[in-house]
Formats: sequence, C-alpha cells, structure tokens
Amino acid sequence: MGQYKKVTVAGGGVLGSQIAFQTAFYGFDVIVYDINEQAINDAKDRVTKLKTRYQEDLQASEEQVNAAFSRVQYQSDLAEAVTEADLIIEAIPEVVDIKTEFYQKLSKLAPSHTIFATNTSTLLPSQFVEATGRPEKFLALHFANEIWLNNTAEVMKQPATDEQVFNDVLDFAKEIGMVALPLHKEQPGYILNSLLVPLLDAAQDLFIKGIADPETIDKTWMVGTGAPKGPFAMLDVIGITTAYHIVQRKAELTGDENMKKLAAHLKTEYIDKNKLGTATGEGFYTY
Ligand code: NAD
Repeated sequence: MGQYKKVTVAGGGVLGSQIAFQTAFYGFDVIVYDINEQAINDAKDRVTKLKTRYQEDLQASEEQVNAAFSRVQYQSDLAEAVTEADLIIEAIPEVVDIKTEFYQKLSKLAPSHTIFATNTSTLLPSQFVEATGRPEKFLALHFANEIWLNNTAEVMKQPATDEQVFNDVLDFAKEIGMVALPLHKEQPGYILNSLLVPLLDAAQDLFIKGIADPETIDKTWMVGTGAPKGPFAMLDVIGITTAYHIVQRKAELTGDENMKKLAAHLKTEYIDKNKLGTATGEGFYTY
C-alpha cells in the first residue's frame, strides 16, 4: 500500500457509495460519512446493491464482495469519521455553499496530515482552497459514474497543490483499479468533458438545424472514426433529462434560437413521452 491506508468518503450518494465500495474492494478500510441516519441507511442500501453489480459485471466472487462490504463502516459524526483518515474523498452535493461549509468544518476536525480530494464534476477546486485551510493538500479526484466499469480517475491540481500529494493521489487511484489521468492545471470539465461536450453540442446543432437526422450523424461519427457509439447513442446513456437541463441553461444564458428550439424539442418529444434514454428503454434509439 502507498501513502494512504485509511480513507473516508464524505457523502454516500450515487458516486460516494461507488467510490467507497471500489476502495474497499481493493483492500482499504473505508468510512462513509453522511449527514444523518436516513442518509446512512440509503448509503448502505446503495453499497449493498453494488455487491451484485461487481459479481455480475466483474465476475467477482461472493467472498470478495463480502470482504469488501465488511471493510466499509458508516458514520454520521464528522469528527469520528475523519479522526484517522489519511485521505478524504468528498462526494457531497454539487452546491457551492454546501461544499464550502463542509470544508470549513472539515479543516478544523481532520488531522493535519490528511489529504482532501473533491469529486466535483463542474466546480473548480481552487474555489474551495481557502475553506480547506490546507491548500497544498487539496486537489480534485474525479470519477465517472459506474466507476468499476468506467474506471477513469482524473486527478487535477489546483495552483497550490503539492507535487508529492498529486503523485500520491495518482498512485492511490491506480491502487484502487483506476486508470489514473493527471491534469497539471485546472480545467473546467477535466479532460473527458472538455472533449465530449463540444462533440455532443455539435451533434445536436446539426440535428436541430435540420442538416441530418440522429442516425446519420451517429453513423458518420462511427464509420469515420471507428468509434463504437455516436453522440446520440451517448446522449441516450447520459440521459435525455441531463441533456435537456444543459441545453435549457445554455438557451437561457445565450438566448440562442436554435438552443431554445432544441430544448423545446427534447422536452415535448422525449421527456414528456418518458423517452429518457437507456434508463427507460427508449430515447433517440429503442433498447
Ligand atoms: P448524490 O446526491 O447522489 O449524493 C450526495 C450525498 O451527499 C447524499 O448521500 C447526501 O445525503 C450527502 N450530503 C448532503 N449534504 C451533505 C453534507 N453537508 N455533508 C456530507 N454529505 C452530505 O450526488 P452524487 O451524484 O453522488 O454527486 C456527488 C458529487 O460527485 C458531486 O460533486 C458531483 O458533481 C460528483 N460526481 C457525480 C457524478 C454522477 O454521475 N452522479 C459523476 C462524477 C462526479
């Protein structure tokens, strides 16, 4: 094992439960911190369900998943949850005030050697540096949903992150079965979304302008680049609701007529008809 032995995951929601189980699966002792007993019970349910997914998707044995499960403890007292932590991975709601307040509390309770890593998708870590009280020991460690399958770990420095801490977190990511991807500077959207978002935007733009239909756009991308999926099939996996929220926000911000048309189209033709993508069996394609 590398620098970190005891890991605390703050927030046992969709991503937090996955990060906790993945970390325990690779032999670490993990504590999941969440705000109250109800949230703790929900987190336990999520972790319990992951046992089956690891057996189905990774052919993990029952002994393996049970051993991982037993290495995860739960705690709703923050001081207790962090008292022995070498690394705290924060996966609490994507709300600036909630995260700021959390780091302010954490900075007083965590041991001075403890590293803080945020799993934020859309916020920059530098925004929380002051609240952490330990600029050199703070960075982003960003996972993708279904981390046991989509096992990227984007490790991103903020200007004050210590180089050794950056390297230690990259090593930790590898130790828990991730493909560790170093980002030497802050970048909104990290690497993956910096590449993916413009592609998805361009695809939807071609469609709403009436230039080509989704199947043709996907076919062009797949045949032309050898990719297994086109942008509309990717949108089905991401979910049409998420796509709609993003488009609607851009339409509001820019006032762009095509964006407004696209948002209205996604709402009436997909969301209102419960065609939300792979999750409901139908989106741009039928599954
Ligand atoms: P979620 O809503 O499923 O889970 C959030 C958890 O945080 C809940 O268990 C909630 O009880 C808990 N929580 C609420 N307030 C808290 C507080 N003050 N302190 C501690 N815990 C608190 O959210 P999620 O989808 O797991 O996202 C969490 C973070 O992970 C966000 O920053 C998000 O951007 C990031 N992320 C999400 C995904 C995804 O696909 N869902 C992917 C990558 C990164």
